[in-house]
Amino acid sequence: MTATYQVHGNLAVITLDNPPVNGLGLATRQGIVAGLEQALADPAVAAIVLTGAGKAFSGGADIREFSSAKALQEPILISVISALEASTKPVVAAIHSVAMGGGLELALGCHYRIAAPGTTIAMPEVKIGLIPGAGGTQRLPRALGVEPALNLIVSGESVKSDLLAMVPGQKLFDRMASAPEKLMEEAMALAREVAAVRPLPRLRDLPCKHPQDQAYFQFARNMAKGMARHFPAPPKCVDAVEAATKLPFDQGAAKEREIFINLMWTPECRALRHLFSAQRAASKIDDVPSDTPTRSIRRVGVIGAGTMGGGISMNFLNAGIPVVLLETQQEALDRGLATIRKNYEAQVKKGKLKEEKYKERMALLHPTLAYEDFRDVDLVIEAVFEEMGVKEQVFRQLDAIAKPGAILATNTSTLNVDTIAGFTQRPQDVVGLHFFSPANVMKLLEVVRGAKTAKDVLATVMGLAKTIKKTAVVSGVCDGFIGNRMIEQYARQAGFLLDEGCTPQQVDRAIEKFGFAMGPFRMGDLAGNDIGWAIRKRRAIEHPGLRYSKTADLLCEMGRFGQKTGKGWYDYAPGRRDALPSAEVEAMILKHREALGLKPRKISDDEIVQRLVFALVNEGAHILEEGIAAKASDIDMVYITGYGFPIHRGGPMLYADQLGLFNVVQAMKRFATNPHDDASFWQPAPLLQRLAADGKTLN
Ligand code: NAD
Repeated sequence: MTATYQVHGNLAVITLDNPPVNGLGLATRQGIVAGLEQALADPAVAAIVLTGAGKAFSGGADIREFSSAKALQEPILISVISALEASTKPVVAAIHSVAMGGGLELALGCHYRIAAPGTTIAMPEVKIGLIPGAGGTQRLPRALGVEPALNLIVSGESVKSDLLAMVPGQKLFDRMASAPEKLMEEAMALAREVAAVRPLPRLRDLPCKHPQDQAYFQFARNMAKGMARHFPAPPKCVDAVEAATKLPFDQGAAKEREIFINLMWTPECRALRHLFSAQRAASKIDDVPSDTPTRSIRRVGVIGAGTMGGGISMNFLNAGIPVVLLETQQEALDRGLATIRKNYEAQVKKGKLKEEKYKERMALLHPTLAYEDFRDVDLVIEAVFEEMGVKEQVFRQLDAIAKPGAILATNTSTLNVDTIAGFTQRPQDVVGLHFFSPANVMKLLEVVRGAKTAKDVLATVMGLAKTIKKTAVVSGVCDGFIGNRMIEQYARQAGFLLDEGCTPQQVDRAIEKFGFAMGPFRMGDLAGNDIGWAIRKRRAIEHPGLRYSKTADLLCEMGRFGQKTGKGWYDYAPGRRDALPSAEVEAMILKHREALGLKPRKISDDEIVQRLVFALVNEGAHILEEGIAAKASDIDMVYITGYGFPIHRGGPMLYADQLGLFNVVQAMKRFATNPHDDASFWQPAPLLQRLAADGKTLN
């Protein structure tokens, strides 16, 4: 039973008991209704108190029931709320800790509400592309006033109960408890006080008006549309609340339901719900149970104070974890420290960081030139040059000095983590922690699981990722891991598009219109085109048959490395980041096409987008089939958090699912017949072919 029933004198107490946050799953909903029926049938019961056990009143819908038939099984939440509202004995909601979404709607269906101070109140449905769907858009404006209610609903943000209690004329809380620990006692006192009140107050019976309704709703709708960009839900929140002011309650509620159901089927809502679950799923590793013991990480070592080492260190300093930062030369160490200081000072200047906090963080940083200082660290992350010889030297030294049980991590982007682990006598303690640049900003962390990486090491770093506010996704060992291995195919396609007739700006514009934060050529200019150049040179040795457009190499031969050299695929005015089309680059591409004997053709934006995105999808399917990624949603998380893939599309794998894999495979077959593209490139991954043939999806 996930809701309990007790009688105290003339009061019945129904307690939601569905850890962790009393999600309103089927059993809980049944439990509430059963408790209510029992209370109504018992002549000794005069009033009812509804509350939640443990850490919440209720966090809302039970996410474990998402997309399952149980979510739609009676009593659905609307029916539970109707039953409470129709109760002939008063129902008092005793709200504490968290009342969110459906949990808040449940409380709004009660006749009276008393809240503990400090309770988190929110209607977060908009964050998963929905509006509140169990009367929330109709009752909350009646309880709180139209404007504060719409603000809560459209933002999805949480507000403390104490603040809401100060809204003039509010009827959300009849009373605030004097202290959280007094809540039940005071809720029961309230229930006794109101036991004889008739008729019972119901929010549905209250008027709902805004004095300047037309002007206000127009303004609110414009704001919501501006904020929402690709998402339909925010302006729909405005429609639903407006309905509360214009229609009788039941008609308004029907309108809310209609909007809710329509939103549910939008690709944007599906994308947001997918990412919501994907985020949680990413932190779980199939064969590493959640009760796996973890190692305690009190002190961290970082080797190399370059671009990555500095940013990586800041993550730990921000979380209050001391960092020992090692370089081989004083000069490099000083340079690294200066960059860390500069980054923090910029935050202080912008008012994002307090001066004392900055000082506190710097005090946690211990710069050094001596490996000796790593004797007592619990985790070391290496971020030195990307050369196996240098990594070998570093890991042999680490093996000699680090204490037993210390985790030894590498930030390598391309080297084999198992080879690196082999430089030590403790490969079970070695793991890849692949941060993204700038490491203090980017959310993604690829955790690279070596063949011998111990389970408790994985459990520890996954937990640590949360502490430093990263989204960790596990990848197996392969060249490029999940993200860079896929982006390489995308970049190859981008090159072929230039060969066939596109300009860099046309490709960038098309994919940015699709929703990417930045197209491949602007991205190349930002990251440095020389990085890919070096990788291609290495590939030419390892995979001599692999075809690339030569344009990227020609660009580098011209010294056009990107923003850092003032020119790349685009020109840049000194000190500016605006990408200006370059006549020199266009001439280079033209000459290259002539040399190949290619006649340029006009390529549509749709074709550009499909070729770039399906390149990701196909490589993603290989990665999935090889077990490098455990699930398609992990790949989506990598692309959303690390590569600027548009959130409203839910990641490349969900996007392919939504298009239909059959259609994706058909398009690939069509691309394969293009004589200027690479036919072998478009051989659909076997997994994709199988799923397409069976009418199945990747996710
Ligand atoms: P970088 O050249 O900016 O910094 C490397 C630093 O390591 C330099 O300061 C150098 O002095 C120091 N160093 C070299 N050998 C050392 C040694 N033996 N002991 C101690 N310090 C030593 O390089 P980076 O861009 O910070 O890259 C570092 C690592 O991170 C590489 O493995 C790279 O593949 C990986 N990486 C880089 C990025 C990126 O975007 N730059 C992203 C993810 C991962």
